[in-house]
Amino acid sequence: MTDFAKTKSLFHLPAGLLYLDGNSLGPLPRAAADRVGAMMQQEWGDLLVTAWTRADWINQPSRVGNRVGKLIGAPAGSVVMGDTLSIKLYQALASALEMSAERKIILSDSGNFPTDLYMAQGLIKSLDRGYELQLCEPEEIENRLSAEVAVLMLTEVDYRSGRLHDMRSLTEKAHEDGILTIWDLAHSAGALPVRVADCDVDFAVGCSYKYLNSGPGGPAFIYVAPRLVEQVQPALCGWLGHQAPFDFGLDYRPAAGIERMRIGTPPILQLTALEASLDIWDMVDIEDVRAVSIELSSLFIELVEASCPELELASPRDERRRGSQVSFRFEHGYAAMRALIDRGLIGDFRAPDIMRFGFTPLYLEAGEVRKAALIIEDVMSNRLWDRPRYHEHSPVT
Ligand SMILES: *Cc1c(COP(=O)(O)O)cnc(C)c1O
Repeated sequence: MTDFAKTKSLFHLPAGLLYLDGNSLGPLPRAAADRVGAMMQQEWGDLLVTAWTRADWINQPSRVGNRVGKLIGAPAGSVVMGDTLSIKLYQALASALEMSAERKIILSDSGNFPTDLYMAQGLIKSLDRGYELQLCEPEEIENRLSAEVAVLMLTEVDYRSGRLHDMRSLTEKAHEDGILTIWDLAHSAGALPVRVADCDVDFAVGCSYKYLNSGPGGPAFIYVAPRLVEQVQPALCGWLGHQAPFDFGLDYRPAAGIERMRIGTPPILQLTALEASLDIWDMVDIEDVRAVSIELSSLFIELVEASCPELELASPRDERRRGSQVSFRFEHGYAAMRALIDRGLIGDFRAPDIMRFGFTPLYLEAGEVRKAALIIEDVMSNRLWDRPRYHEHSPVT
């Protein structure tokens, strides 16, 4: 069994704060500040540009990619880090469309994260080849699969409700119709066991600053099934995805394997912070994370439902159909979340009426969940949210 008291001690967690938002921004691993500081002094400071080889910065995106790969069931050499998730999603979609040239439909669901849909819309416009993004309700996906669909593009865990798609079954059904699959693992990587290779998915992307704790703006990851990667023609042909970047040739030739999904200069400071977090992940069995996450989230639902009749559960009650977050609907959810944050309980709000709480066993325990439920009860039963200052909207929710 994973020693979660130990992993918790390895994070900087401000005293008196209940942090139920690690699904949006993971906390600081204590070692990250020193690691990044040492890297800045000894590598950037002392080695300067020679650190690209002497500190092996040049291979850090794939070295770290292999470690992230272990958390999503990807074999070595199939994951690389870099850029933002929006960009990685764009790359995956452009490649998948290129591979299924005759088909014109991209299928996704209304629970997908907006940036994924926006990136698809932008790509469709610039390709100008008659592609169409079709959206349906999450439960309808299976019925909408057909030989017309080029790509099935889904986020495994719905960012609002926490609803969990059945990745294995949908991938299998999509493949029966010759459809390529892209899975966004933003709320899956580090939250629950993921087996991209075993489920035979074609492309997967995800971010590192949520459950993987790489810090704000940490790089995303991309996985391409090894059986496909040599056919992938990158749409964003950056020099570091070239076969021989330092030949400085005038024409693009993709690098072998997953390296072709690299674009430009990688964010070494953030990758170094992520390495400090992955050292903690090395002590963790993701099956234990899942088991404790279910315990914590089920306890939370039970306590909140018992004390706050105004809050309506927006997440699946069946824990097998839920990721590692719990959401409640409340008409004044924005103001209520502001009131909770004022009382030291951090969750977040998602329009129009979702109060969202993330469960992260690496640094969250049952005692804190109980305390959080008491604060919510206080705010709700005493209408503490109903103060003018809690109704003023800030630009980030
Ligand atoms: C968090 C999240 C993103 C964020 O994308 P960035 O490019 O990193 O800002 C994208 N997609 C999903 C599904 C997310 O949950």
